[in-house]
Amino acid sequence: MMLSKKIDSIQISGIRKFYNKVAEVDGAISLTLGEPDFKIPIEVKEAMKRAIDEDKTTYTPNAGIMPLREEVSKYLNSLGIDFSKEEICITVGGSEGLLSTFMAILNEEDKVLLPSIAYPAYESCINIVGGRAINYNLNDDLSINISNIKELIKENKPKAIVISYPSNPTGIIMTKNECTELFKVLKDEDILIISDEIYSSIIFEDYNSISMYSELKNKLIFIGGFSKMFSMTGIRIGYVCAQQSILDNIIKVHQYNVSCAPSIGQYGALEGLKKSMYHIEYIKEDLKLRRDYVYERLINMGLKTVKPKGAFYIFPSIANFGMSSDEFCERLLREAKVAVVPGSAFGSGGEGYIRISYCYSMNQLILALDLMEKWIGDIRKANKNKLN
Ligand code: PMP
Repeated sequence: MMLSKKIDSIQISGIRKFYNKVAEVDGAISLTLGEPDFKIPIEVKEAMKRAIDEDKTTYTPNAGIMPLREEVSKYLNSLGIDFSKEEICITVGGSEGLLSTFMAILNEEDKVLLPSIAYPAYESCINIVGGRAINYNLNDDLSINISNIKELIKENKPKAIVISYPSNPTGIIMTKNECTELFKVLKDEDILIISDEIYSSIIFEDYNSISMYSELKNKLIFIGGFSKMFSMTGIRIGYVCAQQSILDNIIKVHQYNVSCAPSIGQYGALEGLKKSMYHIEYIKEDLKLRRDYVYERLINMGLKTVKPKGAFYIFPSIANFGMSSDEFCERLLREAKVAVVPGSAFGSGGEGYIRISYCYSMNQLILALDLMEKWIGDIRKANKNKLN
């Protein structure tokens, strides 16, 4: 049967593909998924149970319950980002927010600038809608290459650009200086800016974002969510913010796709914003310890690694092992029983890297890194013997 050619050509995510392989290897330790091992804060849990008991289980308004939109607006204001409650739509995770956004803004063949190393869903969503993804480069230290963005805008006249910090998979954040430079490039361009800030609550340094420039507000689409913030990945609550005429279009797609985000989760997120902000401080402190530990171990293994400053991923280079990132990960899984994601799953710039997700327990991290260190030692010995 002829199904959609566009959808036929889309691959399932490389992250999932690798995660599925892990199940085939008995006793393998997986550092593949972006799923924190923290529990949902108690206040959020209780609020969700209450929502069920009080029968708050019907459809909500399409854009979400107003008290939650209000709290999200307050939260963003506290970060220096100006969106009113009317400019916020609660979505089924950031994921639905992203796809609804691309559907609402793109015509066939419209171009979108994406980082050359990025969360794989962007490119797939753009392809689903029939747009065209164009990669912008990152610098050697994985920071944003603003002059390349400037050139690509001149050459391609893209409809939109995706800015994604803290980055999945690199853990890199933007500096104030980079934000200012990027602002100068974008302010006079006719371009929509999609800022995916799903990890913005997990930053180990000062928060800076392109979303803080009020002069850009008319072209800014902000994607946020609670999956990482309150460790509630399965509850599926996120949000999209944009000025009214853009948001109206996004809400149309959202309405016909899902009607509204799950009511129970919305009440949970609302209580979280009011009562569980301590959770963020707690997970940040904990993740920072894990980040420091994993970073030190990788450096001691001789892997070139940029120290991440946000999210819970680290992206070391494996370029000098003489293997593709796919082969490296496949062998690491089969021979050492440790699963990490090949950099190639994250786009054209990701070859030569691996992504380690360090939101796993310290015990798992220690065990996995011990196994990896030994395996890398064996590989280096074997390579040396080959050369001799
Ligand atoms: N953006 C990025 C960069 C992500 O890594 C993720 C999830 N891993 C999402 C958006 C979507 O998250 P959710 O749908 O759970 O909100």
